Amino acid sequence: MAKDKKAVVAIAKEPTVQESVTKVFDLLGGVTNMIKRGETVILKPNAGHAEGPDTAVCTSPETLRAVIREVKKAQPSRIIVAESAAIGCDTMECFEVSGQADVAREEGVELYDIKAEKDLVNVAVRGYKSNIKRCKIPRLLLEADHIINLPIMKAHASMVFSCALKNIKGTVQDQVHSQMHQQNLTMAMMDVWWAVRPDINIVDAINVASGYSPHTPTPLEVGIIMGSYDPVALDLIACDVVGIDTNQVDYFRAADEAGLGTTNRDKIEVVGEQVKDVYRKMWIPYLGNMADRWPEYDIRCEGACSSCQALLALNMETLKALGIYEENSDKTIVVGPRNTIPDKPKDKIILHGNCTKRFADKGMWIPGCPPGETGLYLTVKTGQVVDGEIPGCIENIIRPSMEADHPKWRAYVEQKAKEFYENPENQ
Ligand code: SF4
Repeated sequence: MAKDKKAVVAIAKEPTVQESVTKVFDLLGGVTNMIKRGETVILKPNAGHAEGPDTAVCTSPETLRAVIREVKKAQPSRIIVAESAAIGCDTMECFEVSGQADVAREEGVELYDIKAEKDLVNVAVRGYKSNIKRCKIPRLLLEADHIINLPIMKAHASMVFSCALKNIKGTVQDQVHSQMHQQNLTMAMMDVWWAVRPDINIVDAINVASGYSPHTPTPLEVGIIMGSYDPVALDLIACDVVGIDTNQVDYFRAADEAGLGTTNRDKIEVVGEQVKDVYRKMWIPYLGNMADRWPEYDIRCEGACSSCQALLALNMETLKALGIYEENSDKTIVVGPRNTIPDKPKDKIILHGNCTKRFADKGMWIPGCPPGETGLYLTVKTGQVVDGEIPGCIENIIRPSMEADHPKWRAYVEQKAKEFYENPENQ
């Protein structure tokens, strides 16, 4: 982008999804100017979990169809819908359950499971910021003429929210995915972005997943499609639309440092609808004052990133939902790098995340940056460190516990969502 040129973020709210998608492409220059006849176009929706369209966890089939039809106007030679679902999830199953597979078949475009690809290129990441110096990316993605990033806007337990930038995490296979969680997920996301370099971003914000998404989402109708060449500006404006305080989300600082786009509102031009006209406050329980939110507990979270704070919220509320909050309130929970620990038995101190590792011999240390989403509550509940990297832990502890705990948790979340949406602006 030229120095004085503003990043354009387009917002459309038309009577149909198709009209909104077309409007966004038009506001960004028109699909036939963006894509040339005979080119190869990869569409990267979010199909990370096996969740149906009613949950708003995956890009909606309707939005995917609208983008395919818009792209077809440019007469590309191939349109490929590509995804690598979350660790432990089967991509093809996610395509089916999300409704995207039906759309691909009906529209005559290819479905592509990145996890199953053998033809990978080990790309060097320029100026890498995490431990990802090289990253294996399918040759198909690297050689495509265009990658259209097609996320859905949603709350996210380990990143506060998920939109354009985070969606590209779904272009790597499980091994890189797992590596991304072990050091610094935010910076690793930036590194993967540099390696993959999508050129167009279209956000599905027709229905967004609020609340304790992605595993216990509360859908909310916002009714818009957004688009931009700049993923950071797009994420920033998407947050403005749903009332997320971007100052509380560390990822924007990291994206700024990594030079992936602009976080300066003076350098962003919103075209089409304006934020104030489409604003709809979303319930996003992953933000707020974490130190005082659970006064019955000794919570130490000085210096914690927003990712670990979001996980703290998810896990503390899960303890409440399961009715095991009070009985464990003798525990100290340490999150973030700038904390001291009390003189207590080892099983009374839970250390959450890599930056508490220096105390590992004095408490129950859960590794990860950030750790797995449910590691904290399951460690409290079971009295042993629960970490998906421990062999057998996912199959024997994490999955069965989450399944058993889900009904109580779901009921708790529904009640909280009802309370929030009765008066969203007062929260
Ligand atoms: S482990 Fe530490 S550095 Fe990593 S996300 Fe959590 S608070 Fe941030």
